[in-house]
Amino acid sequence: MKRRSNRTKIVMVASEVEPYAKSGGLGDVLGALPKALAKENNNIIVIMPKYKMIAQQFKDKMHYVGYIYVDVNWRHQYCGVFRFQKNYVTYYFLDNEFYFGDDKLYNNMDLERFSFLNLAVFELLKYIRFRPDIIHAHDWQTGVLPALLKYKYGNDEFFKNTKTVYTIHNLQYQGKFDKGHVTDMLPLPNEAYHGDANFMKMGIIYADKITTVSPTYKEEIKTSEYGEGLEYMLRDYYYKLEGILNGIDDKIYNPEIDDLIDFKFNKTNYKENKKQNKDKLLNDLSLSNKKEVPLIGIITRLAGQKGIDLILQIMAELLSLEVNVILLGSGEKHYEEAFKYYEEKYPHNFRAILKFDNQLAHKIYASSDLFLMPSVFEPCGLAQMICLKYGTLPIVRETGGLKDSILSFNEYTNEGNGFSFANYNRDDFMYTIYRALGFYNQKEKFDIIISNAFECDFSWNASCKKYIQLYKELIKKE
Ligand code: ADP
Repeated sequence: MKRRSNRTKIVMVASEVEPYAKSGGLGDVLGALPKALAKENNNIIVIMPKYKMIAQQFKDKMHYVGYIYVDVNWRHQYCGVFRFQKNYVTYYFLDNEFYFGDDKLYNNMDLERFSFLNLAVFELLKYIRFRPDIIHAHDWQTGVLPALLKYKYGNDEFFKNTKTVYTIHNLQYQGKFDKGHVTDMLPLPNEAYHGDANFMKMGIIYADKITTVSPTYKEEIKTSEYGEGLEYMLRDYYYKLEGILNGIDDKIYNPEIDDLIDFKFNKTNYKENKKQNKDKLLNDLSLSNKKEVPLIGIITRLAGQKGIDLILQIMAELLSLEVNVILLGSGEKHYEEAFKYYEEKYPHNFRAILKFDNQLAHKIYASSDLFLMPSVFEPCGLAQMICLKYGTLPIVRETGGLKDSILSFNEYTNEGNGFSFANYNRDDFMYTIYRALGFYNQKEKFDIIISNAFECDFSWNASCKKYIQLYKELIKKE
């Protein structure tokens, strides 16, 4: 064990941290990566808003530390500080009723709410006397941390040795706002913006290192197809960009110990127990179709990125086959309505559950035979990795992290942990589904693919070491 003083001091800041607040993969990563880093003997704190929606059971465990004031330009704002320690990670929750007191994770006040969060980080660190080696910011909500360090707090002796890492989890959400409003919130000079006000752009420019969440996405975002208008900038800063594949938390996503599912299982007894999960879920959701036909799961944000248009294009054909399909998703209203339409039309073999429900998600992973994820783009994607842990075979489009984690089954070599297709079109997608269903009926082959899936290790062990290496390069510490 290294001496305590030699431990790298890392601050992670994000708008989502599982299990406190999560809308997607960002929350998963912030739940798992800090724990993995702490295990490797780093000194980690995580800072996030104290949203009203955080479950009471967690709020009950937080300790009130005190309060600070944060100047969001002329607004002198109260910021309560709450602390909670778990798995050697210390979590700080920033409390301000005005900003975080409504029921939503995101709302139309986001510019001001997250400006407050970014500014509060520096004030908090000084208040708790945590002098970080690394500030690690995630996605647009914390994109201005590196710029604030450069232009405001970097002159402060306290942050003299602090370096910044900025991770892009999804380039589509950049935090672009009216510049007049942004300059009203943040104490940054005009030159800091490099044109329009865009939180993510500033993260890319000012961070000492940028990472994104898969090696393939790292290459894709340099192109106009995936670069969301920032491709030129990402090419300029390519020298400081790394692609590190996310992992999943194998304590949370592990069918052997998962209390959220009805029948636990592992790679040796999955056949019987997955079937029991499936029968129970089909009963619970009153699907009257035969139970032995393949169950296809879909768990997703209902957003264009996720290939929902492609799924809708194949729905009628898919539901006319001998399959059961369960979709759990929430998001854009027009998608929700389209799935409701199909549920009314195919009540015996399709359910659309239009909400965010963590427990139901676990049950669907545990019960499904196949899983659809035909994303337009996918920075990393965790759902497909979770599937592999639960012996559920993903059908994915070859993009971003899907390409880095799913190898389409090759029936000649018996290699592969799922099924994939390259071009974003309905015929290739449907063909791949038929292919998967064909193997479902050749039990021996299907078992081989499932056992390949169980053999995959997408836990944080390997990826966490890559982050540690990157931090070390930045701070040149042993
Ligand atoms: P993204 O971050 O783009 O939404 P990921 O695949 O990286 O996609 O992560 C999605 C995470 O959110 C997974 O853990 C998935 O199970 C979960 N998830 C998505 N939609 C829902 C939902 N409606 N209910 C419960 N969990 C969901």
